[in-house]
Amino acid sequence: MSTGPFRTRSDFIASEVARINGPEPARIFYVLVCRLCGDPDKPLPMPFGSPAERGKWASAHTAATGHDRWFVLDQPAGSGGPEKIAALIREHDQVVAAWRAETGERQ
Ligand SMILES: [Zn+2]
Repeated sequence: MSTGPFRTRSDFIASEVARINGPEPARIFYVLVCRLCGDPDKPLPMPFGSPAERGKWASAHTAATGHDRWFVLDQPAGSGGPEKIAALIREHDQVVAAWRAETGERQ
């Protein structure tokens, strides 16, 4: 059974964390934020224990609500709490907007 598109990236991050921290990999929270639920200034980050769990929840949420826009983050434990997520999303959107302006891509 496939764990979805998150597997490769998560495995990569886990291996990078192991490389930096030694053989014991640090815990990673597999965070998912539905971009269509709630206030953009107060996103509701959902932490999952594995990419597979996150993928399953996303599928169920899309099936139930039709929502299909996500902010996905593999966050090492200790790198900040949910209060940081809104700022990360804003930063992400600014980078994407700048990239679109530069390449001339229209939304
Ligand atoms: Zn939603």
